[in-house]
Amino acid sequence: MAFDQLSTKLQDVFKQLKGKGKLSDKDVKLALREVKLALLEADVNFKVVKQFIKTIEERAVGHEVMESLTPGQQVIKIVNEELINLMGSTQSKINFAPRGITVIMMVGLQGAGKTTTSAKLSSHIKSQGKRPLLVACDVYRPAAIDQLTKVGKQVNVPVFSMGSDKNPVDIAQAGVNYAKENNLDVVIIDTAGRLHIDEVLMDELKNIKALVKPQEILLVVDAMTGQDAVNVAESFDQTLGLDGVVMTKLDGDSRGGAALSVKAVTNKPIKFVGMGEKLNDLEPFHPERIASRILG
Ligand code: GDP
Repeated sequence: MAFDQLSTKLQDVFKQLKGKGKLSDKDVKLALREVKLALLEADVNFKVVKQFIKTIEERAVGHEVMESLTPGQQVIKIVNEELINLMGSTQSKINFAPRGITVIMMVGLQGAGKTTTSAKLSSHIKSQGKRPLLVACDVYRPAAIDQLTKVGKQVNVPVFSMGSDKNPVDIAQAGVNYAKENNLDVVIIDTAGRLHIDEVLMDELKNIKALVKPQEILLVVDAMTGQDAVNVAESFDQTLGLDGVVMTKLDGDSRGGAALSVKAVTNKPIKFVGMGEKLNDLEPFHPERIASRILG
């Protein structure tokens, strides 16, 4: 499970702090050195770690302690608050259109979990009483359309497809029209991925974006790829503009560094996390719950 190692390390550091009646600035600095190492070992982005430690140091060193807390508790409180800030403070939700159809574009590299996540998200949205439609715009990967059709059936959400010889931009627009004609209110577009970011992929995504004007562009990234996931997010955000990130495969990621870095690097929040292969393994991302999971 993600964050386990980090959590064990941080709890060890803080156990030592808690045991002391008084804390000198040196004690705090030494503890923060350990925190820094633990974060780096968890594969948190180097710059993010540096800034994080600096902020905590500024808040913790040389300040009066709140009367109700021991000095050790005070440091832990600050680390907890800053961890939450790092991940975006509060839960970030999907922006639904106030009226009419909400379009959500799912983007990402091949294998990140885009198709699976599209189905998971459609099921989540359906459980909120909305009427979603999945649109199959990945015309390049063999079997992508069949895969979406299959998972759509499993979650009982209709899937719109036009085969693989049509232009994805036209399919996206036709999907939105289909939703309008059939009284559906959320269109989730499963776009094509590539093994690497390339201009052709980005141009296609930009064209779809320009035509269907999505309320949400969600990037699906694989937590197990660590800082590569963060670089992918930075790159998609610069060229396409993102509203949020879905981080998949957190169930298989023992370090958790990508999840802790992506908001600080891109300023785009994680909105959901994938916690397994099953179609109900999608969870809204709660920064405060993750922070308390880490700090125990
Ligand atoms: P796409 O190429 O981005 O559309 O990726 P797919 O949706 O086909 O997913 C690639 C693989 O990752 C599949 O085997 C999925 O079952 C798996 N997968 C997707 N999300 C998760 C997740 O949150 N946890 C785990 N363990 N596997 C996942």
